[in-house]
Amino acid sequence: MLTIKKGDMVKVISGRDLGKTGRVLSVERSTKRILVESVQMVKHHMKANPQKNIKGGILERESLVSSSNVMLLCPSCGPIRPKVQTLPDGKKSRSCRKCGNTLV
Ligand SMILES: [Zn+2]
Repeated sequence: MLTIKKGDMVKVISGRDLGKTGRVLSVERSTKRILVESVQMVKHHMKANPQKNIKGGILERESLVSSSNVMLLCPSCGPIRPKVQTLPDGKKSRSCRKCGNTLV
């Protein structure tokens, strides 16, 4: 199951951006892919379109990475696989297995 949420800090553990850390910008639950700030940057060649006020040139933006290629970061321990518990009210809570901190 996907334990990563928008706003989390994650570390890339495989692929071109191995070792990079960044904030999660968005999560696609259906495909288990996520967008991480400044990770998996791709260049888009934009054609100028003055009518739509689009400047031409090369734009760089993030592209989706598989959630299995990143690990959640615990502020005190680093990359972890969180322990997920379901609370009595049905909400899920994530905690660090090492230090026991709850990750919101
Ligand atoms: Zn921890």
